[in-house]
Amino acid sequence: MQKSKQTGVTFAHVSKVYAKGQKPAVDDFTFEVRPGEFLVLVGPSGCGKSTTLRMVAGLETPTSGTIEIGGRDVTRLPPKDRDIAMVFQNYALYPHMTVRENMSFALRLRHVPKDEIARRVDAAASTLGLGAYLDRLPKALSGGQRQRVAVGRAIVREPAVFLFDEPLSNLDAKMRVEMRAEIVRLHHSLGATMIYVTHDQTEAMTMGDRIVVMDGGRIQQAAPPMEVYDRPANCFVASFIGTPPMNLFPPGVLDLGRTVGVRPEHLRILPADGAPDGALPATVDVVEPLGAETLVHAVLDSRRAHVVARAPGGCAVRHGDRIALLPDPSKTIAFDGNLTQ
Ligand code: ADP
Repeated sequence: MQKSKQTGVTFAHVSKVYAKGQKPAVDDFTFEVRPGEFLVLVGPSGCGKSTTLRMVAGLETPTSGTIEIGGRDVTRLPPKDRDIAMVFQNYALYPHMTVRENMSFALRLRHVPKDEIARRVDAAASTLGLGAYLDRLPKALSGGQRQRVAVGRAIVREPAVFLFDEPLSNLDAKMRVEMRAEIVRLHHSLGATMIYVTHDQTEAMTMGDRIVVMDGGRIQQAAPPMEVYDRPANCFVASFIGTPPMNLFPPGVLDLGRTVGVRPEHLRILPADGAPDGALPATVDVVEPLGAETLVHAVLDSRRAHVVARAPGGCAVRHGDRIALLPDPSKTIAFDGNLTQ
């Protein structure tokens, strides 16, 4: 398949206020998406990620600030003049059109020659494994197939930038994992710039070249996934990224003045008797055997925190056992300020 043109997207102080007197849905968003990058916008519901994406698409207009696509100011251009294609959560397919008609519709509107349309649709259908379904109506397809058609419809337009708004949320867990890999593969083969919105931190971690974590309309951290995981910028990011999330100990547990974060894999589970200095005595609450690993939930004796530790598969601790949890001091992170949860 043809490699796409590579185009960056630049946000400069972009804010969106939907109604006067309301808090901004997006607040001073400044960021540069690199040409060819897979960028994930992630955060809880209502944090402003869809609004950000819709402003790139031209479906919302910023209250202030500018957006450039490939160096061209598009802030006030209509969607059709932006060289983008968007894939929505609800697929947004035309129910009375076949798969082929759905995929070719935007090209027909633009009077692209028939043989060129056929070439692009056939190429996209073969990339997405839709070749056998081109004459079917959407109602005769599974959820995963419908979402593939929605992706195919974006591909045939050969846009400078692909925009995805929670495209996998309506699929079952197994199909989500499959489509996740498929979209990453597509990014490798097309090399196009992609901006992908999700509330699912696993999608963000597994798909993004970089991820932008948002909360309350503001960027909390923008970095490659492992950097966000290893060095979260604040308590919000620490507790949002990672399943289970980072343990956060209030001031006084591991550090006198500050909140300290420790990932579950950086807590060693030791017998309560003879535990070294720095180990926190605790009682096992719930044990979750997950095959390759075991998640051990425990309550500190001080009752100041509920903790999750990640142990190898087959770990023998049980509900009610007395243990001591030893944090790896090289992996703990102290955060300024108090817990904001
Ligand atoms: P997310 O995609 O992270 O769930 P949104 O961008 O959809 O967040 O919404 C951000 C905030 O803006 C929310 O508080 C939401 O209620 C508000 N909002 C979104 N769309 C509109 C709209 N059309 N009119 C008014 N408020 C809106």
